[in-house]
Amino acid sequence: MKERSRRRFFTYLVRSRRLGRSLGVDLVPFKTCPYDCIYCELGRTTHKSATPEDYTPPKDILREIRESLEEISPPDHITLAGAGEPALHSRIGEVISGIKEMTDIPVALLTSGSLFWMKDVRASVQDADLIIPSLDAGDDPTFQCINRPHKDISFEKMVRGLSALRESYTGTLWLEVFLVEGVNAEEENILKIRTRAERLSPDRIQLNTLDRTAAESFVRAVPEDKMKRIASLLGPRCEVIGG
Ligand code: SF4
Repeated sequence: MKERSRRRFFTYLVRSRRLGRSLGVDLVPFKTCPYDCIYCELGRTTHKSATPEDYTPPKDILREIRESLEEISPPDHITLAGAGEPALHSRIGEVISGIKEMTDIPVALLTSGSLFWMKDVRASVQDADLIIPSLDAGDDPTFQCINRPHKDISFEKMVRGLSALRESYTGTLWLEVFLVEGVNAEEENILKIRTRAERLSPDRIQLNTLDRTAAESFVRAVPEDKMKRIASLLGPRCEVIGG
């Protein structure tokens, strides 16, 4: 998950290749996340959590979204993302339904995808128009290496959660795969990711790689020509969005 620029307290305006002009919304405190991805542009995770909590009251977040929308021309999306995992806000469902009552602008959710094994979390995001979870690994050793998840989240648990989301969610689902040279970008890694992705049947698969600083200095971008070869391995719904 990444994308940001000019900001108020919870909201910021950002442009990205895939979502156009977007009003980003932060729901949780900085680097509150179930993952500590080696490639995270925000640095190492300072509050690793797998337990949703009642952070900022939705009414305060919704008030700022309303004020921001009054100040700017309508964005292409309102995107729940930011400096941590939005689904760790236990009242994310109220935020989404409040936005839907306020405007017809589509709501996108950028998420690690690591919490959907919890029924309440799945239920709370059903009204989002677009969900973009990450899937950076096809097996547990790679998952541990690249995402460094909270101890309560195994690879199989995370993938079971994504499958359960796919079964219940009727909106648009794009998978984001972040590739790191020497970690998850060899054919063996990609074929395992493909197997998992096929079961989820996403509407798109988007490949990303490093184009800025990362949490760990050893993280290297995958070269452009290799990104294209990997995209062809993942099939016609796959596109390169970064690198
Ligand atoms: S999921 Fe990974 S990239 Fe996204 S905020 Fe958490 S640690 Fe950073």
